Amino acid sequence: MLASGDTPVTSVTFEAPRDSARRRGARDTARGPLYRPAPAPRPWIGTALTVAAVAGFVAVMAQGISVETASELHAPGGVAIFVGSLAGLAGMYLALIMVVLVSRIPPVERILGQDGLLRWHRRLAPWPLSLIGLHAVIITIGYAQAAKAGFLAQLGQFISSYPDMLAATVALALMALAGIASIRAIRTRLRRETWWVIHLYLYLALALSFAHVIALGPSFVGHPLARALWVAIWVATAGSVLAFRFGLPLVRSLRHQLRVAEVRPEAPGVVSVILTGRQLQRLPFAGGQFVEWRFVARGLWWQAHPYSVSALPRPPYLRLTVKAVGDHSAAVARLAPGTRVFFEGPYGAFTRHAQRNRQVALVAGGIGLTALRSLLEELPARSAPAVVVRVNRPEEFVFRSEVTELARQRKGTLHEVVGDLGAVPFDADVLRDLVPDLVRRDVYVCGPPGFVEHVTALATSLGVDHRSVHHEAFAL
Ligand SMILES: Cc1cc2nc3c(=O)[nH]c(=O)nc-3n(C[C@H](O)[C@H](O)[C@H](O)COP(=O)(O)OP(=O)(O)OC[C@H]3O[C@@H](n4cnc5c(N)ncnc54)[C@H](O)[C@@H]3O)c2cc1C
Repeated sequence: MLASGDTPVTSVTFEAPRDSARRRGARDTARGPLYRPAPAPRPWIGTALTVAAVAGFVAVMAQGISVETASELHAPGGVAIFVGSLAGLAGMYLALIMVVLVSRIPPVERILGQDGLLRWHRRLAPWPLSLIGLHAVIITIGYAQAAKAGFLAQLGQFISSYPDMLAATVALALMALAGIASIRAIRTRLRRETWWVIHLYLYLALALSFAHVIALGPSFVGHPLARALWVAIWVATAGSVLAFRFGLPLVRSLRHQLRVAEVRPEAPGVVSVILTGRQLQRLPFAGGQFVEWRFVARGLWWQAHPYSVSALPRPPYLRLTVKAVGDHSAAVARLAPGTRVFFEGPYGAFTRHAQRNRQVALVAGGIGLTALRSLLEELPARSAPAVVVRVNRPEEFVFRSEVTELARQRKGTLHEVVGDLGAVPFDADVLRDLVPDLVRRDVYVCGPPGFVEHVTALATSLGVDHRSVHHEAFAL
């Protein structure tokens, strides 16, 4: 073992595993893991689904265009009604794609991870909202032109005498509410729970608009095949939400019957929750993943929060480690043994499957060590990982002895950078000094969002290919 450096940086390089560790490594390999390793992502599934989604969009739009006749187009208001209908179709289709993106279909989640799915969901969000809004305005203009009436009079007529129009108007209002709440300046001020409830209303909005589309959409009235196809798209979307957001988590929670076994203090404000459960060897898991936990205790049962699994499963045990930063994370420290736990996941593409180079650098900011701890544990013996832990105070380095032992078994290097952010820099020079061959490694970075962004930028500025930088920020 080589040790070098003065505070605030302590570096330890492990030259070779001790005999006992080598023996243990061999035994682990011979026995195989005690848990079921999560399957590798299959990018072709992502490609196939993208092609299907684009083909569906083209088909829906083509159907919308094909039903239009020249005489309808030339009638008063015809062009506006046509354009408005197409905008509505496109908007609804994209809204369904947004729902599919967050339904966490396992093969898709494995490719993009939850943050990747949410990124796409957010990128897409302005389109359906504005297209559906435009649909309402343009089509009202079209009908007003046809009836030689004013815009507001036509709107009133729609709501009072067209089937399902009131429901569709309520749906539009709910969508507009979600759109306003999504504006960054407003979103960052909202409590997460409020944000979550607004999103539930979006599901209601989609359900309300379903009958309106079927009953009034020119593509569907008198076109039973198109109507059947549209219904199939809706059913598939609703089915994927029900199956993967509700069904699978419920089945897993009932199968594994997780309960809190112990809450163990790790550091000031940080506790580990040890869970016990049945048949945990059947739960697919990869080091670095997280789970949405729902503790069935007073004040907590109605909300699920994401916390990484901080060690590979050791059936019948699972461990998560939580730093108190707010209501939920503080309440976790007070969980009583025996508390029932429901869960969704494991989720995340922050795993070994993302690795492109032979070696890795794991960079943790504070509590971000939880995910990297289980990722490190899954690395093969002698893989020589470079582990960098950035903490403000020495006692914030949770699992110091476990991480040291895991790095030692893998013939790695462990760097601890301690000190307040302002006082102790963590810049490109520091990172290059600590990991001189960084550019030849995959960089896994985990911790608070600011830290993750900072290290990602450092790594790419030092020449690491952006595809080799993998990140998990502890906020969504
Ligand atoms: C993928 C992932 C893995 C995580 N792993 C860990 C871990 O291993 N250990 C740990 O201590 N923390 C982890 N976190 C952070 C943890 O989820 C939040 O600290 C916790 O949910 C805060 O909730 P709160 O009510 O205590 O605080 P609040 O005051 O409600 O929130 C504090 C901040 O946490 C984030 N947050 C709150 N609720 C959620 C939520 N439901 N989903 C996502 N982000 C939320 C928000 O950015 C918020 O600003 C992880 C977060 C993510 C996204």
